[in-house]
Amino acid sequence: MSLATPVVIGNWKMNGLRADGLARAEALRDRLARAPGEGTLGICPPATLLAPIADRIGEHGLLLGGQDCSSALKGAHTGDISAEMLKDLGCDLVIVGHSERRHGHGEDDALVRAKAEAALKAGLDVILCIGETEEEWQAGGTTEVLDRQIEGSLPAAAAAGHLIVAYEPVWAIGTGRTPSTVDIGRTHAHIRSRLVDLVPGGARVRLLYGGSVKAGNAGEIMAAGEVDGVLVGGASLDADGFWAIFEAGRAGARSSPAGA
Ligand code: PEP
Repeated sequence: MSLATPVVIGNWKMNGLRADGLARAEALRDRLARAPGEGTLGICPPATLLAPIADRIGEHGLLLGGQDCSSALKGAHTGDISAEMLKDLGCDLVIVGHSERRHGHGEDDALVRAKAEAALKAGLDVILCIGETEEEWQAGGTTEVLDRQIEGSLPAAAAAGHLIVAYEPVWAIGTGRTPSTVDIGRTHAHIRSRLVDLVPGGARVRLLYGGSVKAGNAGEIMAAGEVDGVLVGGASLDADGFWAIFEAGRAGARSSPAGA
């Protein structure tokens, strides 16, 4: 899969039953069909909705992803879902290392790396989430935390074309607060330099910002340096608002000197 900028991915988290989830996915599928063009739009619904959504969205360009996967390939792991199962359902990608997994389920860098490796092995693209807590941010420790997470959770043999890194400050997720666009640009530039050091073709890894993105701030966030797109939680639960975020990114890409 080749990802065009802007890359806008919705993380529905544990939200959505069949009726509203399918309606939202179909609305996005139809909008994309009516307005094809630059950019990459994707959704990560709850695991329960992946199969019916995969059946409905078909080959219309809307990407489908899981929110997590097991580090194991198969076997006695009650309740877990393997990367191969996601691929088999029609997923294109999977999120690993989301802060709600790192902090809510005690996932460390080594486990996140193992999940990312399992996903790549299954043929999925990986969205690797990193980000500092409020305490770490207040203490000025952001780059140190990010360096540790990047070094600890980057999959071995990561290929730039199949890796997306999402910088998601934990204190910005679901809070309505965001870093300034200057800070986002500065932090993304730092992440980019680490990726260039560590990943062959690191300059081409897609770098997303996530944390309280909505239609009203998406344009300026996506205009910040080294921001290739956004990972969106709450605001992805409304098809109109999510589409407006994508359109803001597309408008920015059209007006940037580099184009899309
Ligand atoms: C997220 O959880 O990945 C996220 C970015 O959430 P929100 O947009 O709701 O802050």
